[in-house]
Amino acid sequence: MINVFQPSLGAEELARIKGVFESNWLGKGKLNDEFELGFAAHLKVDRKHVFTTNCCSEGLFASMHMFDIGPGDEVIMPTISFVGAGNAVCASGAKLALCDVDPRTLNVRARDIETKITPNTKAIMLIHYGGVPCEMDEIMALAEKHHLYVIEDSACSVSSTYKGQACGTIGDMGMWSFDAMKILVCGDGSMLYFRDPELKVKAEKWLYFGLESKSGYSNSVDKKWWEYDVSSFGHRAIMNDITAAMAVEQLKKLPGFITKRKAIHEEYDRLLADVSWLDTPLPLAADCTSSYYFYHVQVKKAQRDDLAKYLREHGVYTTFRYFPLHRVSRYEIKGNFPNADYAAEHTLCLPLHQSLSMEDVATVVRLIHEFGRINHLNE
Ligand SMILES: *Cc1c(COP(=O)(O)O)cnc(C)c1O
Repeated sequence: MINVFQPSLGAEELARIKGVFESNWLGKGKLNDEFELGFAAHLKVDRKHVFTTNCCSEGLFASMHMFDIGPGDEVIMPTISFVGAGNAVCASGAKLALCDVDPRTLNVRARDIETKITPNTKAIMLIHYGGVPCEMDEIMALAEKHHLYVIEDSACSVSSTYKGQACGTIGDMGMWSFDAMKILVCGDGSMLYFRDPELKVKAEKWLYFGLESKSGYSNSVDKKWWEYDVSSFGHRAIMNDITAAMAVEQLKKLPGFITKRKAIHEEYDRLLADVSWLDTPLPLAADCTSSYYFYHVQVKKAQRDDLAKYLREHGVYTTFRYFPLHRVSRYEIKGNFPNADYAAEHTLCLPLHQSLSMEDVATVVRLIHEFGRINHLNE
């Protein structure tokens, strides 16, 4: 089976894990430090803005606490968002206000957000779909005008930049995921960014029981180190040094991963250019870079599901990300989302990962051609 996503872990990661075993310190420690430092440099921000947590979803939930979002408030997000983002807003007691997206890029636009702004709107939570940056100038201008926080779910955009700035560091808070299906993979893990370093300090406490004094490796209290106080009724959501060991090695490999993904992206573009019944991704804006997380095609006629089934029967696994939140009944959303509905019926994410060979890409494309011929889609 050709997987749609797949991690690329190797001997380097194993060697670092071995080092963690030997150090006898498995919890959050030196390797988390190393990763935070390295990732901050990768983002081109100061280290005082970032810290690790156990998963990106925890960051989404934490964002509600950080910006005091709760009952009476509204948060706008594109309906094509990750389920954890929707859950975070609803769990806080705030109202989930979904908006439509661009039908081709599946990214939210300022004009989509604008239609949902009310006096109760407190924040915008957006996602850079597949690693392609949203139109951040327009969105930030809108947020400024209406005094809204901007939270960037950057799970897809580990290496994406908008006009030279890393996605996830443009708004007030950003979060990245390193789970098993992402580009930089460590099993589970996440980095959080806060524009305001004081908020980072607050978040770090919130994600460790609200503890005022730290224990463990960073403890510098000289006596009665078992006493403590809490400033909030926080969670326990920290990354450990076993996962951080993988993350530091993956970070070194990240530029190579992106190069490989870009090459695959371009190969798909080249080989699918003459398939008239398929829309391929739009070209990237000149002042942006992508992480090439997805390669999403759109079957113009209503045969996306059949194509997915055909590919799967022939050993190629595909998927659609992200099932629109307005179709999830528990969210109880009313309204029309024609572009997202179009996207949800026509979009398919093709295999894209670092271990994919160009022969694999050719196989996927050959099957797509075959499917088109069998179903007379070129006519
Ligand atoms: C994977 C993903 C998340 C969640 O990340 P975890 O680290 O698994 O919690 C959030 N948002 C998007 C867009 C994702 O793709």
